[in-house]
Amino acid sequence: MVPEGSCEFCGGEDVFVKYDFGIHKIHRCRTCTFMWLFPQPKGEELDEVYGFDYYQNEKFFDNKNESIYGYYDYMSERYIKQQNYDQLIDNMIQLTHGPFREGMSFLDAGCGLGYLMDVAHDKGFDVEGIEYNPAAAERIAKKYTFPVFCGDLLSYEGGPFDAVAMLDVIEHLLDPFDSLAKISAVMKPGGIFMVSTMDSDSLVSRIVGKRLEDFRRTREHLYFFTRRTLTTALERQGFEVIRIDSYGLPIRMDFLMRRIKLAFPLLGGVAERLMRWLHLSSLQFHFDPHTKMTVYARKIG
Ligand SMILES: [Zn+2]
Repeated sequence: MVPEGSCEFCGGEDVFVKYDFGIHKIHRCRTCTFMWLFPQPKGEELDEVYGFDYYQNEKFFDNKNESIYGYYDYMSERYIKQQNYDQLIDNMIQLTHGPFREGMSFLDAGCGLGYLMDVAHDKGFDVEGIEYNPAAAERIAKKYTFPVFCGDLLSYEGGPFDAVAMLDVIEHLLDPFDSLAKISAVMKPGGIFMVSTMDSDSLVSRIVGKRLEDFRRTREHLYFFTRRTLTTALERQGFEVIRIDSYGLPIRMDFLMRRIKLAFPLLGGVAERLMRWLHLSSLQFHFDPHTKMTVYARKIG
């Protein structure tokens, strides 16, 4: 156990407060660049966040609200998300060990409302999910027949899988390193693991800093990786990193403007009105601010 205040990733003690949100702070290790929320929430505090309103949080765009969490309307983003997932699953198919075969096993660790499993299933994978949020797991069970384990990843006993995805999940976990060990344990040798999270040291992440939505999610984002720390964390668990992409998203103009407004109220407000005036609010395009990364890693063995 690392003493309180020192770096869980490298054990370094040269730690400072990078972003101060009052009660919550984000600490950064000078030795290895790893960052984490301090203090860390208790299990019951997390349970309050992960209910059904996580996916329909009406207060999301409320700027008086320092701490944001969840999604404004996750369901309405489904089709736009699935366009992106289509590409991600194609990438995984290209990277499976040997040629891709129908029925290869796929686990989505943190499957939300099942949209990624849906795409992976359509492309020929035999899918399974793990979801911590009981409201989400219940909703999936009504819609899909995919097996979903509702609970903590660490208590999951299944597999082994040919492919595992963990999108925008690792930063939410109380035990990110044990969780990576668990993922490794439920994978077949040669299997492909796709993990996405914030890239906390990218140029835009550093420039926008404390105003960035990913840092402000102080009730749910607990750990912040860089390309280097995530690569090392994966290597420690027997993976070889084979590809790192930045993670862009198809997005609608009005939605992007609201998100910019969240970080920069004045600028975002003007831009939002301008786009409305130009009738560009419903324009859809690919947006990649380089604040997120997708890492593909192969399990060695
Ligand atoms: Zn460190």
